[in-house]
Amino acid sequence: MKCPNCGNRTSVEIDIHSEGFSAEESPVKECGECGLVWRVRIVKGEPEIDIIKAGKKGK
Ligand SMILES: [Zn+2]
Repeated sequence: MKCPNCGNRTSVEIDIHSEGFSAEESPVKECGECGLVWRVRIVKGEPEIDIIKAGKKGK
């Protein structure tokens, strides 16, 4: 999926099996372009972007 910060598609999945990891949470991803670390959670049937680490802004 696209990076929600910069729109780049070169994201890397990070295998973090922290507490609370469940089928409703997608793997943590890191953007290869801006460094944003995020994952998507399903909240009440709606995907919600959970920013774990902010990425660089702009290009
Ligand atoms: Zn990005």
